[in-house]
Amino acid sequence: MTTGSDIAAGRLGADRIAEDFAEIHPPLDRRTALIESSRCYFCYDAPCIEACPTGIDIPAFIKGIATDNVKGAAQTILTANIMGGMCARVCPVEELCEDACVRNHQEEKPVTISALQRYATDHVFLGGEQLFSRAVDRQARCRGRRWPGRPGLRPPPRRARP
Ligand code: SF4
Repeated sequence: MTTGSDIAAGRLGADRIAEDFAEIHPPLDRRTALIESSRCYFCYDAPCIEACPTGIDIPAFIKGIATDNVKGAAQTILTANIMGGMCARVCPVEELCEDACVRNHQEEKPVTISALQRYATDHVFLGGEQLFSRAVDRQARCRGRRWPGRPGLRPPPRRARP
């Protein structure tokens, strides 16, 4: 008896795929983001940073949102963690930064760091803004440069390093 694989392309319709991959939590709007960011104390020795595996300067980016500098907030996040947009959705913040937030001791409700992080990164991704430029490829520039001496002579190729 043979058992054939039931793996096949296109078994799910577009509606089912959209439903399965929909966001679990709705995004913050500008007003909610401003209110939520104003809950942060901008702690000097912020325990939320200590708890973040990527060391994002959380009070700094929240300050950016609170002052309507959302692009600057995104730059702070993505400089520390280029996957910051994804981490805002999948990181277990309830065990990391949000668990460490001092607001837990006062109101038993932390600053919603992940939602604010998502707000900032979505702002630049959905707006199509470029925050970083590609580094100059110095070796490529060198390869294209003419070598002094005979016309058309190029420098010898570099040997691969072991
Ligand atoms: S611990 Fe909470 S209140 Fe303090 S800086 Fe971090 S997010 Fe803000």
